[in-house]
Amino acid sequence: MPIAAADENTEVREELLEVVRRFRDKEIIPTASHYDAQDEYPEPIVERMKELGLFGITVPTEYGGLGLDLLTYVMVVEELSYGWMSVSGFLNTHFMGCFLIKTFGTEEQKQKFLPRMATGEIRAAYSLSEPDAGSDVAAIRTRAVRDGDEYVVNGTKMWLTNGREARLVVTLVRTDPNPDTRHRGLSVLLVEKEPGPRYEGITVGPNIHKLGYRGVETVELVFDNHRVPAANLLGAEEGNGFPQMMAAVELGRINIAARAVGVARRAFEESIRYAQQRETFGRPIAQHQAIQFKLAEMGTKLHAARLVCHDAARRKNRGERCDLQAGMAKYFASEACWEICQEALRIHGGNGYANEYPIERLYRDAPLMIVGEGTNEIQKMVIGRRLLEEYAID
Ligand SMILES: Cc1cc2nc3c(=O)[nH]c(=O)nc-3n(C[C@H](O)[C@H](O)[C@H](O)COP(=O)(O)OP(=O)(O)OC[C@H]3O[C@@H](n4cnc5c(N)ncnc54)[C@H](O)[C@@H]3O)c2cc1C
Repeated sequence: MPIAAADENTEVREELLEVVRRFRDKEIIPTASHYDAQDEYPEPIVERMKELGLFGITVPTEYGGLGLDLLTYVMVVEELSYGWMSVSGFLNTHFMGCFLIKTFGTEEQKQKFLPRMATGEIRAAYSLSEPDAGSDVAAIRTRAVRDGDEYVVNGTKMWLTNGREARLVVTLVRTDPNPDTRHRGLSVLLVEKEPGPRYEGITVGPNIHKLGYRGVETVELVFDNHRVPAANLLGAEEGNGFPQMMAAVELGRINIAARAVGVARRAFEESIRYAQQRETFGRPIAQHQAIQFKLAEMGTKLHAARLVCHDAARRKNRGERCDLQAGMAKYFASEACWEICQEALRIHGGNGYANEYPIERLYRDAPLMIVGEGTNEIQKMVIGRRLLEEYAID
């Protein structure tokens, strides 16, 4: 399942990364603390992302996107997350939605959605989780019943990133009422709505208050006899929802790894700068060996996290199976990021705990990467199973 034809289009990539870095330095870094403290949706940032074409990075050019490869995408995510992790949250669910339509959608679905998704006019949320089903995807209960040319949807979805502002919610539903069918009874519906709290049989709950990852809304969404045209069944065939959503989750895991690298790099660079400025006992703390050891561990983990992340991105881009590498990248990079943020807090002493410095925000944002797109316990299950498959002795 290649993402796009180009894998090493380095000239275009460098140009785009330069634009993204300038945008980040001028418009994201100076405002992130304000939006984070107020938990405010940063509309000017999202509008600028639309102007820069960031919502269409991996959308093929024939559908109005930039048609770039997955490695470019993860490098953009790293740069944005270096500024503020929430900004990458506006992209991720949208990016997964674009991938699903591009990969599994009918030509009619591609024509209908992708050009307006590429510009950001339509932004997508990705809805798998429910109040009683997160890790155990087959346990989802939201029902879609076919009624003529429509599906009637009832149920409650949970934890929708971008769920309020999105105009498209890529939603996993149960189309087969027999619970014994488990994964095989699931399908994906492309649910259209307007931004806001209510829309014809859809009620969006208030924003969930979170430890970090602020500014980007996370909500519950309730379907009450909401009608979806049957033409919006992804791929026009029931029963394929589980493998479709899992293919997108694989991408989501690579995206999480890239975010983790961005947050970890910021924590590391802030620390190495601070360590050379802050003096104790007559010399910069960077000259104490204990601090050098911390910086050595942080720098090494950061480097390794970036390598596993890029390796998974390259493999996925080439269309190779990469559930193992995506799981490893997500697991390793998110744990490394969390450890690096903790060490950054120690290096900053009391200042690490104050919101005048970015470390306390990084420290609050980092744990999301351990939970999102499948917890790290689930990653270890995936990795363990795949390793036993690869190294089976008979
Ligand atoms: C800020 C935020 C944004 C999110 N955005 C989205 C989104 O946009 N779309 C979406 O669909 N979801 C989203 N999620 C949901 C997220 O994907 C789930 O929270 C995650 O998959 C875990 O599911 P759960 O919360 O139901 O935990 P549970 O599945 O209840 O797990 C609870 C604990 O048990 C462990 N566990 C579960 N099963 C096993 C097992 N078999 N073996 C060992 N340990 C196990 C887990 O690792 C975890 O530690 C978001 C979550 C957060 C916090």
